[in-house]
Amino acid sequence: MRDEDALARFAVDESGLGRFPPEAAVLPETAEEVAHVLEVAAAHGVPVTPRGTGTGMTGGALPVRGGIVLCTERMTKIRELDVDELIAVVEPGVVTGALQAEVEAAGLFYPPDPASLASCSLGGNVAENAGGPRAFKYGTTREYVLGLDVALMGGERFSCGRRTMKGVTGYDVTAAIVGSEGTFAVATAITLRLLPRPAAVGTLLATFVDAITAGTAVGAILRRGLRPCALELLDRATIEHMRGRGRRLPARAAALLLVEVDGPAESIEAEVERAGGACEEAGALEVVVARSDQERRELWETRRLVNPTLRDTHRRKIPEDIVVPRKAIPEMLRRVDAISAETRIPTATYGHAGDGNLHVNLLVDEPDAEIADRLGRAMDAIMRATLELGGTLAGEHGVGLLKMKYLPWEQSPQLLRVQRELKRVFDPRDLLNPGKILPPA
Ligand SMILES: Cc1cc2nc3c(=O)[nH]c(=O)nc-3n(C[C@H](O)[C@H](O)[C@H](O)COP(=O)(O)OP(=O)(O)OC[C@H]3O[C@@H](n4cnc5c(N)ncnc54)[C@H](O)[C@@H]3O)c2cc1C
Repeated sequence: MRDEDALARFAVDESGLGRFPPEAAVLPETAEEVAHVLEVAAAHGVPVTPRGTGTGMTGGALPVRGGIVLCTERMTKIRELDVDELIAVVEPGVVTGALQAEVEAAGLFYPPDPASLASCSLGGNVAENAGGPRAFKYGTTREYVLGLDVALMGGERFSCGRRTMKGVTGYDVTAAIVGSEGTFAVATAITLRLLPRPAAVGTLLATFVDAITAGTAVGAILRRGLRPCALELLDRATIEHMRGRGRRLPARAAALLLVEVDGPAESIEAEVERAGGACEEAGALEVVVARSDQERRELWETRRLVNPTLRDTHRRKIPEDIVVPRKAIPEMLRRVDAISAETRIPTATYGHAGDGNLHVNLLVDEPDAEIADRLGRAMDAIMRATLELGGTLAGEHGVGLLKMKYLPWEQSPQLLRVQRELKRVFDPRDLLNPGKILPPA
């Protein structure tokens, strides 16, 4: 399609980084059509930007150099669900939540659970190595990708990986493509590892007077030998936003932990009690345990509403995605507060406390021109603090456009050189999703 109105939705994604209209968008239905697009585009030196459903937070799907957006939204078949081998084979446009529903109906489990699962695609999850609350216990998308069918810029196609649980033949090309943010190859089919579905889950919500106490509770839960499948933290500013949205939370609460455990039905209640006990010992103001599926959904609702609430109540929000060692979470939150005060950019932080993965949201209400300098200083300071505390700059949203400038802050020139050479192996003319991840040499 080339109609300007029809192309408008391909010019933006959830990063809020601006509008980058492509010259054309192509919506293939088969791997052959994907390869054909890549062949014709390469022959004419036209850039191609792969796109799933555009929920990316770092601008990965934005066609910054124009050209063609290759969107997989019509490639939505779940081709195979093998309950004996615990494998699913899917097309890249399958929405993550749709696969999960199908898999769970078959008594199985696909753990990666980005909060966007109702709308993001599995191709996008593979490209970003998406995580989510359950990553602490179950790992990220990478742990579940056994194999891929891909097409390279120029149209060449190959399969990599395997259908077996083990396999070490050759270099792990599959692992290299997972997390490459659509800059190496376009995934046309994905073979995923599944697990048996846990028999039971237990959920509790604990509130604390500050994030340091909540951090102590995280340590206490883990020291009791528990491995929750979710350990979500909300800071004071985020809680205030949620109060504004009508969520009932204790007046003194300035930090919140949502804890979920899963496993055999006979042990769940005891695990919930141990987790709740750890929170109380650490000084929780209140511990609320879900007694039914309905109550569990309500507890999760508070967490799920965070992102839309922050988005709806500010002109723009810049979602950071840093990771620090778990024990550094309180110090990182302290530093974020100090950076926010110094630059006068409000922030709201929430995230996956088990992984140390914090989504620090910079909240912008003034026009960009008025605060560009302060915003830049705030971003720089957050990145610097993350690295000083032994962390990494991107936990699950990728580098895309947003973090490109910061990659050399974390990685050595030698490591950047190796990555540039890797990119050349897959895409020597830099036509597939150009202008992402690696800053110009
Ligand atoms: C409300 C909200 C909550 C979110 N929560 C989480 C979360 O908890 N965890 C998390 O990890 N992320 C989260 N995200 C970010 C986002 O949903 C993920 O990065 C997701 O994996 C992107 O999928 P997509 O289909 O939208 O990809 P897009 O945004 O369309 O594209 C993302 C990247 O993938 C590439 N790509 C897409 N399809 C292919 C393909 N077939 N082959 C090769 N490259 C491809 C694109 O080129 C681009 O670089 C959230 C986003 C929102 C809006």
